[in-house]
Amino acid sequence: MRDFGLELEERKQAGLYRTRRQVTGPQQPSLIADGKSLLSFCSNDYLGLANHPANIDALRAALPDTGLGGAASHLICGHHDAHHQLEQRLAEFTGRSSALFFSTGYMANMGVISALAGRGDTIFSDRLNHASIIDGCILSRARVRRYAHGDVAALEAMLAKTSGHKLVVTDGVFSMDGDVAPLAGLARVCRAHDALLVVDDAHGLGVLGPQGRGSVAEAGLSEVDVPVLIGTLGKAVGTSGAFVAGPALLMDYLVQKARTYIYTTAMPPALALATCASIDLIERDDARREHVLGLVSRFRREASALGYDLMHSHTPIQPIMIGDNHAALALSQALEDRGLLVSAIRPPTVPVGEARLRVTFSAAHTQENLDCLLNALSECRHLAQGTEVAI
Ligand code: PMP
Repeated sequence: MRDFGLELEERKQAGLYRTRRQVTGPQQPSLIADGKSLLSFCSNDYLGLANHPANIDALRAALPDTGLGGAASHLICGHHDAHHQLEQRLAEFTGRSSALFFSTGYMANMGVISALAGRGDTIFSDRLNHASIIDGCILSRARVRRYAHGDVAALEAMLAKTSGHKLVVTDGVFSMDGDVAPLAGLARVCRAHDALLVVDDAHGLGVLGPQGRGSVAEAGLSEVDVPVLIGTLGKAVGTSGAFVAGPALLMDYLVQKARTYIYTTAMPPALALATCASIDLIERDDARREHVLGLVSRFRREASALGYDLMHSHTPIQPIMIGDNHAALALSQALEDRGLLVSAIRPPTVPVGEARLRVTFSAAHTQENLDCLLNALSECRHLAQGTEVAI
């Protein structure tokens, strides 16, 4: 039998062993993890809406009418009026003709990619796309070509050499780097080479663009430019689930073909109504976006002045590049010793030699919270020495 214990031991030696913490209570901005109170800079609750009283009230108010569980898959008898309302709200919010509510972003990417591409087709995928996109590509059985990160010219050269059905897929905001895909350029080459463009805006939705409509709206692109838009609801929206939005014909096709939509229990309908409440807040409250993006600018200025190596990101994802796995773990531990939770991200989530601390900001953070982080980073600068951080 395969020696699973040995494999785990090897992981530990390489600084790649992953652990879970047990969190009690709500998440933002402080949490209790394994009994210890920590100020968190690692959640994706970018707007601080996961604990917003209006969303919690909306969930409570919906429960007596809808019950708790989804009861069945959408195509059997699980497709509740509450799901329908959310889909209409999401279509309106993203400026799309229609939308489809999935249980998670992972399932949305797996289902959409494997439904829209198959044997004999070619998928072009950014080298830094999220794991769920990579897995969706594998599941589709299409030929997969990875293009250099954000490199529109490289993609265009590959598209020009390929015949047959072509699908291009990219994160809108890259989850571990925080940078935004060159969406206008991608849309242009997809149009020129008759390729279907799919954008997963998990980390842009709610945060970027007018009224938080996401990275695609920020780039001024419509449904014609980006026919398939995927968004997750467990990040800035602060609830759970995901959606795909686009032309009604494509959504109808996905209802027939996306196995991760068809063969799973529908999400609790009350959650769909709480999500509608959260989208109302996102749409009308620019102050949350302005606050979190203000924290980001200040962090970038002051952490760079301390000598930390930041990435090309203007989003709430602000990685500190370290390089070595053990060094990243040591810095994360030193911050934890000072009451801060910032996760070390290591391969295979990021390329080998590119371990980093993934600092994320939320509208729930105050300027004083940021003071704490910057003070701790100042004290820990020596731990980044000898890595890629020039201090
Ligand atoms: N896409 C991207 C870019 C992500 O970062 C993630 C999750 N972190 C997902 C999809 C998956 O979304 P979910 O957590 O809703 O499964």
